[in-house]
Amino acid sequence: KKFMDASCTSKVRVIVRVRPLLSHEIPAKNGNPSSCISVLDRDSDPRDEVTVHLQDPETSRKECYQLDAFFGQDDNNLRSIFEREVSPLIPEMFRGRNATVFAYGATGSGKTYTMQCAKAAEAWLMLQGTNLLPGLMPLAMSTILSICQRTGSRAEISYYEVYIERCYDLLEDGAKEIVIQDDKDGQVHLKGLSRVPVNSISEFQEIFSRGIQRRKTADTGLNDVSSRSHGVLVVAVSTPGSGDSGAVVSGKLNLIDLAGSEDNRRTCNEGIRLIESSKINQSLFALSNVIRALNNKEPRVPYRDSKLTRILQDSLGGASHALMVACLNPGEYQESVRTVSLAARSRHI
Ligand code: ADP
Ligand code: MG
Repeated sequence: KKFMDASCTSKVRVIVRVRPLLSHEIPAKNGNPSSCISVLDRDSDPRDEVTVHLQDPETSRKECYQLDAFFGQDDNNLRSIFEREVSPLIPEMFRGRNATVFAYGATGSGKTYTMQCAKAAEAWLMLQGTNLLPGLMPLAMSTILSICQRTGSRAEISYYEVYIERCYDLLEDGAKEIVIQDDKDGQVHLKGLSRVPVNSISEFQEIFSRGIQRRKTADTGLNDVSSRSHGVLVVAVSTPGSGDSGAVVSGKLNLIDLAGSEDNRRTCNEGIRLIESSKINQSLFALSNVIRALNNKEPRVPYRDSKLTRILQDSLGGASHALMVACLNPGEYQESVRTVSLAARSRHI
């Protein structure tokens, strides 16, 4: 019932994260990295709106979009995204609120890197002081665990994927399908989904990396291995005795590595790939519609249009906070325009 409280309806923030060009993407001749993305009002307060410019390298045509924040390719932007955009959501979980963070973008734009890190299986090493960087999932987990230690709260994780409109548990072998049920007060239940208690970051890493290996990947024309499913990590916290008359207070954070948005004309997808791809695009469009309806305070929010939005019904809107990270490859103009225009469309009236 708490998330139905319209009085504390909050906006979904939509931010942009540009990944660096990889060494093989930098043109060898002049050695001058060609980025098609820039932002003019760089010096403004990072919490204000920014205008992102995309310029077609062939025609020099420019497009501009308004977003909530911009994180460029030059700085260590995962740490700053975490500190400025994600970490404020965490104390809310301990007050019984839900929150959601998604990485959205084309295949190869840096979604998995943003959420997990360069090599997911090494995320825990990164936290222990190597020079590699953890993504938003391990950073959030580590902050949540330290609050748990202080407050005596418990943390549990679930990890599942949404693949062609079906949900599969990733913390169990055998691709167990999970059925969605909503109860009378609007809470969404994923029936039979595993919830595993986590007490330390190394425990998290062990459980999570096994889950990652169960995620479906397949070859496409554009990328050798690309994620064809939405990967949802849920961290649920519960604090005994902190609610009214000693009740347990629980909240959760959904951290989602969305499947890559695709242009079917470019990937030449056929058969199952085409079905996957059209389901992926449909659910991303449904997600954008839900975010837009929330940001515009429309009376009807179309949660029912996809599995993904149905699952997130109790974590998007109401008293929940959400963040969409639009990920861009600075060498890809068309694809970046597609990503940023959908992101900006989610944000605006
Ligand atoms: P996606 O999940 O969107 O398909 P990936 O996260 O796999 O994209 O990123 C594509 C490539 O870019 C990978 O090789 C990844 O290591 C690299 N990459 C992304 N972000 C960064 C970054 N900040 N620094 C270095 N490499 C990055
Ligand atoms: Mg990926």
